[in-house]
Amino acid sequence: MTGLMLENVEKFYGSACAVTDVNLHLPQGKLVCFLGPSGCGKTTLLRMIAGLETLTSGEIRLDGEDVSHTPAHERNFGMVFQSLALFPHMTVGENIAYPLKLRGVDKAAQKARVTELLAMIQLQQMVDRPVAKLSGGQRQRVAIARAIASHPKLLLLDEPLSALDAKLRESMQVEIRQLQKQLNITTILVTHDQREAMTMADIVVVLGEHRVQQVGTPIEIYRNPANAFVADFIGSGNIFPAKALGGGRVQLPAGDSLDVPIGDTIKAGAEIRMLVRPEDLQLSRSQAAEGNRLNGTVTFIRDIGATIETTVECGGVSLTALSTPNQSLGLAIGHPISVMIPAEACRVLSA
Ligand code: ATP
Repeated sequence: MTGLMLENVEKFYGSACAVTDVNLHLPQGKLVCFLGPSGCGKTTLLRMIAGLETLTSGEIRLDGEDVSHTPAHERNFGMVFQSLALFPHMTVGENIAYPLKLRGVDKAAQKARVTELLAMIQLQQMVDRPVAKLSGGQRQRVAIARAIASHPKLLLLDEPLSALDAKLRESMQVEIRQLQKQLNITTILVTHDQREAMTMADIVVVLGEHRVQQVGTPIEIYRNPANAFVADFIGSGNIFPAKALGGGRVQLPAGDSLDVPIGDTIKAGAEIRMLVRPEDLQLSRSQAAEGNRLNGTVTFIRDIGATIETTVECGGVSLTALSTPNQSLGLAIGHPISVMIPAEACRVLSA
């Protein structure tokens, strides 16, 4: 099978688990994000794929070939770390040519490849500039050009954008994504920034508590999180307790009930947790007790210009709704309000 396969991969440091039970297929040409909170095992997993860390057990195969014990320098994988690890005393051209030199590529071929890569990253005029005299974004591009110089089979990026300011980071996300598509190179990006993962990835692997929690497209993971961990980690969500009543209804802590497609597997009387995304809630100034509508009071408003977050206490829970300025109801803290929760927007979360 083409692409990268991980089978039962795990890493323990002594008795401490860094990551366990990893089974993944990363298809050729896709950009895959390893996303998860600090300490969940993202970097360890990436380093095992790179050959910089041994596996405690399991197997890693690239295009069918077992590379689990192949030394890093024989894998021909391109890597960019958070620190970039460029050589500051060398020029842009020398940095990019470095991996080619190590592989014994002749000088004319090195020069041709550097010219090609500089055009790709749009730094043609800077071939002789020392990297110490580049901006953060330019350095980033040089690090990527160096990583892909020797046509690697896999590009591994470990939080390469985390040192950049928010605006540059967003534009680099788009640049890297476009370059990756153009080259059709299988790429793994480690990040703890869910917005970055949603922007860049074909496939997101959510890691948490040292194991894979869910694999899917960004939108699958956002809309249908596999469990409470993923729901909480991806995007902002209203997660609240409820009790299944049977017949597709649930009861909230204050006694109000809602229609929810909870399926047949949950028995009446079961204590469950529900997820509703803020953009799915509909606010109304008129209070009415019909449908999936809860009456409550506004407790907090955050107006950040493009969007307005309104928090409402209702049904014994606190719900935050997201609206745009043209949907504004002119609300203030203390206003009575009703919140409509569309049944189809509700998800029941497993623990
Ligand atoms: P971050 O986002 O903070 O970089 P991460 O998800 O990449 O975190 P890892 O760096 O892979 O997490 O670490 C996973 C776990 O393994 C952590 O509990 C960490 O303390 C532990 N760990 C990592 N490297 C070592 C090591 N060399 N020796 C012992 N424990 C380690």
